[in-house]
Amino acid sequence: PAELNFLSVLTGCFASPVAENPSIAMVEAAYRHHGIDARYINCDVSPANLRDAVHGALAMGWIGFNLSIPHKVAVLEWLDELAPSATIIGAVNCVVIRDGRLIGENTDGQGFLTSLKTVVDPAGGNVVLFGAGGAARAIAVELALAGASSIRVVNRDPKRGGDLVRLIQDKTPAESELVVWDQTYRVPEGTTVVVNATSIGLFPDVDARLNLDLDSLRPGMIVADVIPNPPRTNLIRDAEARGCTTLDGLGMLVNQGVVGIRHWTGVAVDPTVMRRRLEELFA
Ligand code: NDP
Repeated sequence: PAELNFLSVLTGCFASPVAENPSIAMVEAAYRHHGIDARYINCDVSPANLRDAVHGALAMGWIGFNLSIPHKVAVLEWLDELAPSATIIGAVNCVVIRDGRLIGENTDGQGFLTSLKTVVDPAGGNVVLFGAGGAARAIAVELALAGASSIRVVNRDPKRGGDLVRLIQDKTPAESELVVWDQTYRVPEGTTVVVNATSIGLFPDVDARLNLDLDSLRPGMIVADVIPNPPRTNLIRDAEARGCTTLDGLGMLVNQGVVGIRHWTGVAVDPTVMRRRLEELFA
């Protein structure tokens, strides 16, 4: 008989609040599907306890963990090493523990890029990016490092928008400019990818729409939304109706999970298994 082993590999998420974070369901669905003997545990960790939680994971032999609000920047202080894109983004949502060292990654942007690459290679493309918060920063940096030639940041707050434009200009090869979003925005001709990285449309505010001239969305453009819940946002519906190729926020969420599990275990898990589990939960 096979040797019995009662020691599972441990992973999880440190955040606060964390109770409504569904990553556990999709990650454990992937572990089960691929026969990986690992657990994913949501831990409600306060800012004051982050250091002990990180060192606790190390002490207990965890292979890695995700971080969400409010720890994505604070955790940098306790890490040994940062991946290149995480260094530029300045935030870490995934830590890999290897040979006792804590390595910080940002899989939000990598997950978005993986999802986008299922329909187009962003290299050489012109991007319109709504938003300049944490998700927008991660997406902008990965798109720029993947060779996008220009990223137009459309944001309501000029200070936050300007900070992201300067980050792209100073730290990546892409061109960038700011559009202060104080009127209806028209997507310029020649745009290849349009991304909503604001929280507009997130449950319960499901009727909200971007202040966007829908007639400027043309067939052939790729329109991506980061909103995972509900996946079919008004933007996704409006873009479909105009013949655009669309990518919903579940694609980004699922693929950041795929990238995280690959960093931790080396296994390339099946995104469709994870997506199906989230669709069950959000149905
Ligand atoms: P932040 O709070 O850091 O940024 C929010 C952004 O949305 C800002 O640019 C803000 O503009 C803009 N915004 C919010 N409301 C409005 C509005 N009414 N009109 C115009 N602009 C608005 O949030 P995050 O970047 O962390 O998250 C953004 C969204 O991304 C969330 O809904 C989250 O659920 C989603 N997300 C999805 C992921 C996935 O895997 N699918 C992963 C991570 C995030 P301003 O600067 O002017 O305030």
